[in-house]
Amino acid sequence: MIHLASPLARKTSLALAASAFVGLAFVTPAQAQEQVVNLYSARHYPTDEALYADFTKATGIKVNRVDADDAGILARLKAEGTASPADVILLVDAARLWRGDIDGLFKPVKSKTLETAIPEKLRARATDEGTTWFGFSTRARVVVYDKARVNKGDVDTYEELADPKNKGLLCTRSGSHPYNLSLFSAVTEHLGPAKTEQWMKGLVANMARAPQGGDTDQIKGVASGECGVALTNTYYLARIMRSSAPADKAIADKIGVVFPNQQSWGTHVNIAGAAVAKNAKNTANAVKFMEYLATPAAQNHFANGNNEWPAVASVKIDNPALNAMTGGSFKADTVPVSVLGSNQVKVQQMLDRVGYK
Ligand code: FE
Repeated sequence: MIHLASPLARKTSLALAASAFVGLAFVTPAQAQEQVVNLYSARHYPTDEALYADFTKATGIKVNRVDADDAGILARLKAEGTASPADVILLVDAARLWRGDIDGLFKPVKSKTLETAIPEKLRARATDEGTTWFGFSTRARVVVYDKARVNKGDVDTYEELADPKNKGLLCTRSGSHPYNLSLFSAVTEHLGPAKTEQWMKGLVANMARAPQGGDTDQIKGVASGECGVALTNTYYLARIMRSSAPADKAIADKIGVVFPNQQSWGTHVNIAGAAVAKNAKNTANAVKFMEYLATPAAQNHFANGNNEWPAVASVKIDNPALNAMTGGSFKADTVPVSVLGSNQVKVQQMLDRVGYK
């Protein structure tokens, strides 16, 4: 944990000095030097507002937020260099956190609080300098299928998606999207590069259409009948399941969901996470903010706000859509998310060779 120079001691001595000058305006150090933390966030959910307000209430540290997508944030950090006002970076994929890390955009931190709260497999590998990023919520990459056309048993492993029996059925977003790069990196860990490349070739051969759109478009593609089976992150599905719009209800009725590989290595899990910016000016406040994100109350807000699971294992949430999907729990892949980045270059080369756009 990082300690600030005792503000209470300074405040007390200043108060004593000021009391000698009756009638003079008394300015506390807190007022003179407002405590802030500057956040660059790729998360923009209404519930996050409450999260930041609670942090300010608890610590007196004001949160200034800049919203952008992951790629925009990384580009901005690079362009701003040492002049960057960013203190904390919130990103929504392990592959992007890995990218920011190897581009030298993060400052390693040492925090017993974070090391205790966040499981080792959901954070960057620690070095002597500390840890560069921590996951604060998890999401699974699952299979959705057309209940009328596809048997659950034919699509309940990632491997089977490449089987000829599923020819003409598969829809995915771009293979190069970070969510797929991370999944394929995990598959590479389990099957090895040669088998993974064969598998990817099978995926391409089974496509119902060229990769396009986002995960929600794949879910809609299954509901419309254009696709028989697709890959999606759980929160996109949860959003549809929790929607009261008739069109979403119709989609939810048509599709089935399966958490793949429950009998083998488990379903691939990714994270949303945070890092302290390399050129942070308010490092202590940044660490405090990240430690706050690991508290049970913040974990609840953070995870539920986007229909994810808390990274802190002891925090349990009661999300109706996630409960309905999993039936309570599921077997998650044990590959550390820090490994996902390191396979990415290899994975992209394989994608190029098999023609997976
Ligand atoms: Fe997303």
